[in-house]
Amino acid sequence: MFKRILIANRGEIACRVIRTARRLAIETVAVYSDADAGAMHVAEADAAIRIGGAAPSESYLNVDAILAAAKASGAEAIHPGYGFLSENAAFAEACAKAGIVFIGPPASAIRAMGSKSAAKALMEKAGVPVVPGYHGDKQEPGFLAKEAGRIGYPVLIKAVAGGGGKGMRRVDKAADFAEALAGAKREAQGAFKDDVVLIEKYVERPRHVEIQVFGDAKGNAVYLFERDCSVQRRHQKVLEEAPAPGLDPKTRKSMGEAAVAAAKAIGYTGAGTIEFIFGGGPSGSAFYFMEMNTRLQVEHPVTELITGLDLVEWQLRVASGEALPLKQDELSIRGHAVEARLYAEDPAKDFLPATGRLAHLALPPSNPQGPVRVDTGVRQGDTVSIHYDPMIAKLIAWGEDRAAALRRMASMLDETRVAGMVTNRDFLRAVVTHPAFATGDVHTGFIGEHAKELFLADGPAPDRVLALAALHSVLANAAEAVTRAAASGDPFSPWNRSDGWRLNDDAWSIFRFAEGGREVAAREVAITVHYRKSGYVFDLPGGSVPVIGTMAADGTITARIGGEVCHAAAVRVGGEVYVFDGGRTWRLAIVDPLAAVADAEIGTGKLTAPMPGKIIAVKVEKGAIVERGQALLVMEAMKMEHTIRAPADGKVEGIHYAVGDQVDEGVELIQFEAKED
Ligand code: ADP
Repeated sequence: MFKRILIANRGEIACRVIRTARRLAIETVAVYSDADAGAMHVAEADAAIRIGGAAPSESYLNVDAILAAAKASGAEAIHPGYGFLSENAAFAEACAKAGIVFIGPPASAIRAMGSKSAAKALMEKAGVPVVPGYHGDKQEPGFLAKEAGRIGYPVLIKAVAGGGGKGMRRVDKAADFAEALAGAKREAQGAFKDDVVLIEKYVERPRHVEIQVFGDAKGNAVYLFERDCSVQRRHQKVLEEAPAPGLDPKTRKSMGEAAVAAAKAIGYTGAGTIEFIFGGGPSGSAFYFMEMNTRLQVEHPVTELITGLDLVEWQLRVASGEALPLKQDELSIRGHAVEARLYAEDPAKDFLPATGRLAHLALPPSNPQGPVRVDTGVRQGDTVSIHYDPMIAKLIAWGEDRAAALRRMASMLDETRVAGMVTNRDFLRAVVTHPAFATGDVHTGFIGEHAKELFLADGPAPDRVLALAALHSVLANAAEAVTRAAASGDPFSPWNRSDGWRLNDDAWSIFRFAEGGREVAAREVAITVHYRKSGYVFDLPGGSVPVIGTMAADGTITARIGGEVCHAAAVRVGGEVYVFDGGRTWRLAIVDPLAAVADAEIGTGKLTAPMPGKIIAVKVEKGAIVERGQALLVMEAMKMEHTIRAPADGKVEGIHYAVGDQVDEGVELIQFEAKED
């Protein structure tokens, strides 16, 4: 076994690898970019080496810098994690040349699976079922259109160099084919510098079922069963589980054996995943090879929890020349596991990635063996930056059966609280508690099909939430008063009191909050709090209620509001209170009556950058009269386009940036004047 390894990655996966290495008494060397000097993976490793600037091309993709770090630190092997250089055959070769073990498959296996079309041809030869389609070299539009007709609509156009859902187009009828082909090729050229595509039959209501395989250098290969990753947004996974709901043992076995045949066909070693598109349902259970990922997957923990194994340990053993620890007939499934990916992203804005400082971060307690596990690479106070993947944590729950695992996941999500940026927590909770998800009726269109219930509207905050926000303010003020009094020379002075005490008056205070979420015009609510001997009385929009409660330092609140007992939490970040209640997150702006005066010029809008990025198009000129919803400016952030639109009918008073400019989050882009009614 190795004495020291280098981890050419960051975030949760770097921390994940360090955990196993430490258990096996292997020393770890982390590498980091300038943006990550204070990151968790750097703090957790035994040693850490700076490899370059924040941009991945300068650091985590910088082969020379990584190899130099490995040499300087005396690491015998490099674990690439996932993403970055993990599926880069040239990097695997460069490691070998430098006399360092690449913890992954041989470069030839990575190369064989690097092109979707070459991989399909290879799999066909190995007897693995592939989606019917055309994956040859001919690329004339007329020829491809004919092939699409032969395959039968609907079809899917895919970039052979594809990944991350880019260069992919579904086409439903022949008349749309030419345009979709041109679009897919354009996108593929932009993303991969390669516009070759293949055409596939589009499988209706399919499931994404993948098989975990493992091979060693002695010619052994096994499968560690399947994961169902059907719940996807933008063709990318957000929730994964193992085993796949409702998969019968016979199909499991034939998929597993097909996957092992695929691995053997390319002399595979280490951890790999064969992704299948699965056309299950009453008509049968046909499965087709989609692609192979020649690395550890993000969702590997669900496999670990149902098999009781540590896949990183297996990777290290295999890479150091050992045989696979277990044979196929020694492997079995126990219970059910589900993983939810907690992202800084806004489900209501088509899952637009978000950035910011994790001003408050509470995650459930974690045990690597389950039943409740959290894999993360960030801590409270860390930043989710524009440079890297906006994943905050993976929550993984195990149960004796699927229902138990889902229940546990729901309560894990309840315990998860993030303030400082928008996240998909509420959305994930809506998915795992959805009745259709509970029945196991998952398919890749699940989110679209149930959108109405999954995308929670931002309607007005209920009285209970307003009461929690006000209670938070009252209790935070009280706690502050205690600190202040203790620090002052006169702890009993009335100026150190926070209970609304006034000379000659009933004791009360007013707290004002603005809400309305993403609406342009926020609703403002004033809550009068009366201080009584036995607690408080809150005047809420729906009436007056008695309230008592306590708040812990981490923001958890135990309260009785009217007749209801509630366990919730609230934290203040800047001028906002985040209230976490019943699986929902509410953000309320604290209205400071003095500040409000300055803002009172109604109809004047500043349109600000939702995240740091680059201006790629300006669609209007200064002075333009525009309609509500009209596109004003397009910016690119985290490889995605984001259009800034007019919030109302009105006039563009000023444009502060030009195409090509780099802007920070929150800067004013356009000065806008709404039309008066
Ligand atoms: P990428 O490498 O870009 O992520 P994949 O080939 O892995 O692309 O496909 C991503 C997702 O697209 C799959 O998980 C599945 O949801 C959908 N998909 C892929 N191929 C098909 C198909 N033939 N029919 C229907 N859906 C498909």
